[in-house]
Amino acid sequence: HLQDTITLNNGVKMPGFGLGVYKVEDGDVVIHSVKTAIEHGYRSIDTASFYDNETGVGQAIKESGVPREELFITSKVWNDDQGYEQTLQSFETSLKKLGVDYLDLYLIHWPVKDMYKDTWRAMEKLYEDGKIRAIGVSNFHIQHLENLLADCTVKPVINQVEYHPHLTQVELHTFCKRENIQLEAWSPLKRGKLFDDPTIIDIADKHGKTPAQVILRWDLQNDVVTIPKSITEERIIENANIYDFSLTDEEMNKISELNKNDRAGTNPDRYD
Ligand code: NAD
Repeated sequence: HLQDTITLNNGVKMPGFGLGVYKVEDGDVVIHSVKTAIEHGYRSIDTASFYDNETGVGQAIKESGVPREELFITSKVWNDDQGYEQTLQSFETSLKKLGVDYLDLYLIHWPVKDMYKDTWRAMEKLYEDGKIRAIGVSNFHIQHLENLLADCTVKPVINQVEYHPHLTQVELHTFCKRENIQLEAWSPLKRGKLFDDPTIIDIADKHGKTPAQVILRWDLQNDVVTIPKSITEERIIENANIYDFSLTDEEMNKISELNKNDRAGTNPDRYD
């Protein structure tokens, strides 16, 4: 079931669901969580140089025994490494740490002012050299995307942003749909701060599912790629078990109406 894929604007296929590893300690902890996820059918892993666990992610990939081409590995270039030359270098460091010879997806982590266009040119170069199958951005507001789209050669395939029932990003999502840029949700579970919402609990009870499963199912039905994080085997299994039920239109709307434009993480405005 986890093989459900979406097709990006350059034709590359990507799983609609994956594992996030932000704040997962490098070494045994990240190795265990990534291997556990892969054993339970996950094929997409979302890391970043900033997470400082690419080495462990790479180790887990190797130990999993799953062929590289069946996995979808995402990493991101960190703010301090932006700029043309630095990005090329940082990419090589990520490859080396991950122990792979290509990435499936590479993202600009944040829209650092006066830097992200040069960063993008390096991403385009790496893409054209065949070292990355798809390139995208993260935490881009509409104005950042417009600015990038105005003079890029390769269009970003994805914008990975904070997205959950308290932050539904309606305008940004509409813009991305129009531009054929896939939206991907980070902190889809608002880092655990949505589970006591009575609307979500009520819908979960009706389906015999957990609040986490309802929220992640809502992502899928909204055509948003989702990458919940967990290091607990039980939850890793639970989060992926969202392909045997559907939310009704009414339930989808009720969840979307919980929006209050409330962030758990940083607002990208901070980089303007
Ligand atoms: P999340 O919303 O995925 O929440 C994770 C937390 O929720 C876990 O630590 C755990 O405490 C809890 N949880 C997970 N599954 C649960 C379950 N079934 N039941 C109860 N509790 C559960 O938060 P996140 O880690 O911030 O976001 C997911 C991923 O998104 C990250 O790991 C990372 O890969 C990515 N991310 C990207 C950015 C970015 O700037 N691009 C920023 C933050 C996160």
